[in-house]
Amino acid sequence: MLAIENFEAPQRITNWRNISFFALTTILGLIGTPIYLYHFGLSLSEFLLFAFFMTVTPLSITLGYHRMLAHLTFKGSTLLQFLVLFFGAAAFEQSALKWSSQHRDHHRFVDTSRDPYNIKRGFFYAHIGWLIFWKHKINYDNVKDLAKSKMVMHQHEHYRLWAITSGVLLPVFIGFLIGHPLGALLLAVATRITLIYHGTFCINSVCHTFGKATYDIYSTAKDHWFAALITYGEGYHNYHHHFPSDYRNGVRWYQWDPTKWMIAVLAKMGLAWELRKVSQFRILHAKVAAENQRACDWLKANSHSKLEIMRHNLKLHYDQLNQRLLVWERSSNEYQNLIRHLSEQSKALKKATLEKMKQAKTQFEETLSGWKSFQLQLFAIA
Ligand SMILES: [Zn+2]
Ligand SMILES: [Zn+2]
Repeated sequence: MLAIENFEAPQRITNWRNISFFALTTILGLIGTPIYLYHFGLSLSEFLLFAFFMTVTPLSITLGYHRMLAHLTFKGSTLLQFLVLFFGAAAFEQSALKWSSQHRDHHRFVDTSRDPYNIKRGFFYAHIGWLIFWKHKINYDNVKDLAKSKMVMHQHEHYRLWAITSGVLLPVFIGFLIGHPLGALLLAVATRITLIYHGTFCINSVCHTFGKATYDIYSTAKDHWFAALITYGEGYHNYHHHFPSDYRNGVRWYQWDPTKWMIAVLAKMGLAWELRKVSQFRILHAKVAAENQRACDWLKANSHSKLEIMRHNLKLHYDQLNQRLLVWERSSNEYQNLIRHLSEQSKALKKATLEKMKQAKTQFEETLSGWKSFQLQLFAIA
């Protein structure tokens, strides 16, 4: 049951301040920059300055605002907290406290009137409309934990000072030092802000419209590889909505998630710890449950003489698959426990348990491939 107390629906307005800011950065970034580059070219120092801000600013949002502060998927040192608050402010996406409050509401009340970027109100609304044509009343009750931090509160209360210092003054000052203040303003400020804005906005619009529902077929959140590519790994949004406490969004080794890799590097450096990870068994369970649901829905929507027997067979396959997954999980836990308390004498036992775990995994994989070919047969029946 969703709580609706203390909630005021967004008010329809025309937010001229946001419209002017978006217009100015977009015009400077997308029109001013090409003209500048045409006349003056691009020096290596300008490119490096742009690349630096194009890396640290979005990472401060994805790694800092999103995964560290809004979802508490890991803990970070004071230095790391300062860096993400400083460079996060440079993205001009509001204070970390406000961003996190709205983002927590997005997860908790997704696709309802209380979701600040509710996709049910349309693609444009979820992308940018909610920021320029609507006024949202923020209820900070859901970020009391973050409000205990003096640094978070300082950034919140003096947000404009932080944002202008890190997002405009610092890059332009470096621009002066390297002899290209105008280039710095156009590239490292305007172009960077425009690109990062639309990257972030795509998560709320594109990833709630296009892509694959891998773990929850009824969620509007989707996994979209291209969105992941332009957002430092945030595009695996179906996974993220299903498992928001995981510090990873791209959970497979080959999925593009530089934010996850950066968190792992910070952990190695001692700047991040207590990285929260969902077990591979819970992930697999969610994935096969989603596929099973898709097949069940397909069976419901299609009439066929073999329907009843197909439904029965699907259930048998699914039950067996879950059973084998459970056996694999238990033997894996047994093995993990054993290696934690391993003594010289128990080496033979370790070998036997490892064998048992490998066998359980093979049996699960065999059942999974059988189940997949059964589904192919199922969908082939038109
Ligand atoms: Zn979302
Ligand atoms: Zn999130």
